[in-house]
Amino acid sequence: MKKRIAVYPGSFDPVTFGHLDIIERAAKIFDHVIVAVFVHSAKRSMFTVPERVEMLKRALKGKKNISVDCFEGLLVDYVKKKKTDVVIRGLRAISDLEYEFQIAAVNRTLYSRIETVFFMPRVRYSYLSSSVVRDIAHFRGDVSKLVPAHVAKAIKGKK
Ligand code: ADP
Repeated sequence: MKKRIAVYPGSFDPVTFGHLDIIERAAKIFDHVIVAVFVHSAKRSMFTVPERVEMLKRALKGKKNISVDCFEGLLVDYVKKKKTDVVIRGLRAISDLEYEFQIAAVNRTLYSRIETVFFMPRVRYSYLSSSVVRDIAHFRGDVSKLVPAHVAKAIKGKK
């Protein structure tokens, strides 16, 4: 039987417990989940793409049906290259819906076979985003409840 592969794209700058919650849920439903860091040269970031990939790999160590990668260019092209047509996204609140709806619709226009599957995180992570983590880190606040310990350490090391 054909393996059900899904791609979970994002900035992951840095990975949070919210992302990990979504990945865990997706990995229960799909045979393989590829977590793909989007290379966005125009966007200012806290961590480089290799650093983000490394932090994700460490957070997901030992999970057999999850891999971590990065990609440049259009998501639809990357998805085709990976021989799948499923994209995973997370929905925190209704506020995410408009943006996610737009991306999903555009991707479907570019590639009609693509399906975007949305997962809801645990309620306690529904307010959490990488930008919240970066803002707290900027003011030297405690991010230990929001990201894995090695990510919190890497954030401290950035200052
Ligand atoms: P952000 O910088 O907002 O965390 P990313 O580009 O890294 O965003 O997010 C990739 C995907 O993960 C998006 O679909 C986003 O909505 C989702 N996501 C991010 N944080 C969470 C969370 N706490 N709970 C659920 N989904 C999330």
